[in-house]
Amino acid sequence: MSETYDVIIVGGGPAGISAAILCANNKMKTLLIDKKTEEEIGNKVCGEALSKKTVINVSKKLNVEPPKGDEIKANISTLIIQTADPEINLSLPSIGYMINRHIYGQRLLKEALKRGVLLESETKVLSPIIKDNKVSGVKVKKKNRSIFEFRSKIVIDCSGTMAVVRTNLPENFEPLLNKNLSKSDYASCFREIIKLKKPHKLDGKIVLQYVQDVPEPGYIWFFAIGKKKLNCGTGFVKEGKNEKKSVKKIYNEAMKKYHLPDSYEILDSRGDVVTVKPPIWNAVAPGLIVAGDAAFHADPLTAEGHGPALFAGCFAAEVAIKTVIEQNYSTKDLWEYNIKIMKEFGEENARYKIITLVLEKLGAKNLEFLLKRKVIKKSDLSSAGVLKKESLFSMFMRMVRSFPKIGLLLLMKKAMDANKELADLFVEYPSSPVNFRRWETEIENIYNLFT
Ligand SMILES: Cc1cc2nc3c(=O)[nH]c(=O)nc-3n(C[C@H](O)[C@H](O)[C@H](O)COP(=O)(O)OP(=O)(O)OC[C@H]3O[C@@H](n4cnc5c(N)ncnc54)[C@H](O)[C@@H]3O)c2cc1C
Repeated sequence: MSETYDVIIVGGGPAGISAAILCANNKMKTLLIDKKTEEEIGNKVCGEALSKKTVINVSKKLNVEPPKGDEIKANISTLIIQTADPEINLSLPSIGYMINRHIYGQRLLKEALKRGVLLESETKVLSPIIKDNKVSGVKVKKKNRSIFEFRSKIVIDCSGTMAVVRTNLPENFEPLLNKNLSKSDYASCFREIIKLKKPHKLDGKIVLQYVQDVPEPGYIWFFAIGKKKLNCGTGFVKEGKNEKKSVKKIYNEAMKKYHLPDSYEILDSRGDVVTVKPPIWNAVAPGLIVAGDAAFHADPLTAEGHGPALFAGCFAAEVAIKTVIEQNYSTKDLWEYNIKIMKEFGEENARYKIITLVLEKLGAKNLEFLLKRKVIKKSDLSSAGVLKKESLFSMFMRMVRSFPKIGLLLLMKKAMDANKELADLFVEYPSSPVNFRRWETEIENIYNLFT
């Protein structure tokens, strides 16, 4: 049995829901499929921090109200980067929300349904359907365990880290699209929401504390939810020397050592994974667009992926709508999506991956040294706590003047060069699939210098 839609969207997280709303706003016959129950859509283990600027921009695109009322758990004004010694820190303005993802996600879902999106909840997508050399729908398993096929003109894969459509494409289908799932591209996380007996001092703040006891990138996060609650967690890639380590155990030990001597109540405690890879350089194939975590759109350093997923969903919908109207679904016709992603956050996230690799090599001790010596200053970091590209040179010069530790200097020089090469390459991001392979090889070569 089959049905025909203009667009099928797999996954009702931030990427899928923004794509669904925009498609419905443009009168596309849209089907949203999620394996969760309707009531559970939007609920996800998360640090819950969301940039205000991003969400305001996306809300305008979708014509929905930005987060409001009990969707906002708390406001954020400051990001603090600190070391094991909390006195050694950097404090940066960072305007955002601690968001109740479930309530906010449910409101967006209701907006989508009100605007005409059809929902198939409790339905697990198993694989894409390929017909006439294009993705033409998905095969699903329904709640009653029956197998069913849904057909559409185009599919948007927003299924999160497991990327069910992208990773189940036939091997020979669109060689320019990466179909792999590799263990090293994901960090395992453990996260708790806790309530303290006495008020903490972090109201309005989100803190990244770099400590030696946590494997690289080496931080525990403490995000304040008002005066007494905190969203805390940590995560790392479980491979090599870290393969057998328990994230929960390391988190618990670090919490005991660095924080909260007082007892506290655990309100929620769960594990999940985040992506730590730069965006896939091409996220389209005939009849398919991949968005959000399914395309590694989260910042590989901070795992900030909610905002990028919302944006990616919008871009995916914009391009899908155009191709449905023009009835052209080739990789070339969908390529514009890649260009939009690279411009909005792809280049930035590509750079953040270099910073992650540098931090991994640096370690918490050297970071403490750099902060203490004021080699890294407040003005070097963006509001997400990430090094600005224009700051690398001045940092390098400060390092040369302050303490010529040769290993650090060489690492810094390498990062500076890589940063410059990345910037040059992004100016040349291919305007069509034609020169993509050469471009991809060049960019991968830059990362290989750090591995
Ligand atoms: C511990 C942790 C902390 C984080 N902290 C932050 C933070 O503070 N700030 C931030 O911005 N981001 C944070 N993130 C990242 C953020 O949660 C993700 O980047 C974001 O949710 C990605 O959105 P998405 O729509 O791509 O995927 P998801 O939100 O994962 O949504 C995917 C949807 O697809 C559905 N689905 C999956 N497989 C199938 C299938 N086979 N069939 C049907 N449906 C399917 C799922 O049920 C889900 O509803 C954190 C993540 C974790 C794990």
